[in-house]
Amino acid sequence: MAKLRVLVAGVIGWCLWLGVAPPVAAAASAVAPLPGPVVRGFDPPDQPWLAGHRGVDLLGTVGADVVAAMAGRVVYAGTLAGRGVVVVSHGALRTTYLPVIPTVAVGAQVGTGQVIGRLTGGHSCPGGTCLHWGLKRGDTYLDPLSLLDAGPVRLLPATATDLVGRLLSDRTQALSAGAPLPGLLTRPVPGAVGSTFGMRLHPIFHEWRLHNGVDLTAGCGTPIRAAADARVASVSRDPASGNRLELDHGEVGGHHLVTIYLHAQGFSVLPGANVRRGQVVGRVGSTGWSTGCHLHFTVKLDGSYTDPERFL
Ligand SMILES: [Zn+2]
Ligand SMILES: [Zn+2]
Repeated sequence: MAKLRVLVAGVIGWCLWLGVAPPVAAAASAVAPLPGPVVRGFDPPDQPWLAGHRGVDLLGTVGADVVAAMAGRVVYAGTLAGRGVVVVSHGALRTTYLPVIPTVAVGAQVGTGQVIGRLTGGHSCPGGTCLHWGLKRGDTYLDPLSLLDAGPVRLLPATATDLVGRLLSDRTQALSAGAPLPGLLTRPVPGAVGSTFGMRLHPIFHEWRLHNGVDLTAGCGTPIRAAADARVASVSRDPASGNRLELDHGEVGGHHLVTIYLHAQGFSVLPGANVRRGQVVGRVGSTGWSTGCHLHFTVKLDGSYTDPERFL
């Protein structure tokens, strides 16, 4: 009860400070537009012309689904100052989402949690890709996190935000320096590395060539898991690769990261789909130029092959 009183006092105090009524009616049904975490909080300027942060930044990946925080009507879906923006009206309140590629049109009615766009790069955020989520009542910017009662997104305390920032900048430095960064990717199959990355005598062609990935030992039919959150760039088949899947992980620490999976029996995802880290995307096989069931796993950083073992 004491807790509730403190909470009520806090809400009232907050409203007095802003001079507005609380968005209580909406609070029960709002969801976070991305799973988060929040890496930059709401920091409105003292004066409208001063710099500040008129929303919150949620860390995500390029291509991730962005959903409407509450049911409403799309009043803007297009480009503003070179960035894709969606604005949803909820009566007196409006929520804004950027930078996104809108997947809804102006006038559309959207439900809480309905996909309204896909995250793109462009909003500065330490080492990653962020969604800037805003909330307005008239011309007044409000903290969007106030819509979430006890939702999945929490504003990290300043120390944690610093820590996230430091980890992300360490990651950026490690990526730039070519240093190992274990754990950046999930192992797509549990097996050991049978054949490493680098120049090798090709088992079928018996000539020296670059083995542009690692061969992970795995029996036929073993589930193949996405190495990180991604968007399916392509699913294809060719004589050398057999069944081939390419996942686009977007910008990671300022570098474009792609993973490729070869020789599968088949894949269970379609081009354009968003997949989660660890999600099963196919089954190990021996299609293409392969001498037995295994997963050939390739990592490309900014378009160049790099040793996947750096990131496993
Ligand atoms: Zn922002
Ligand atoms: Zn291989």
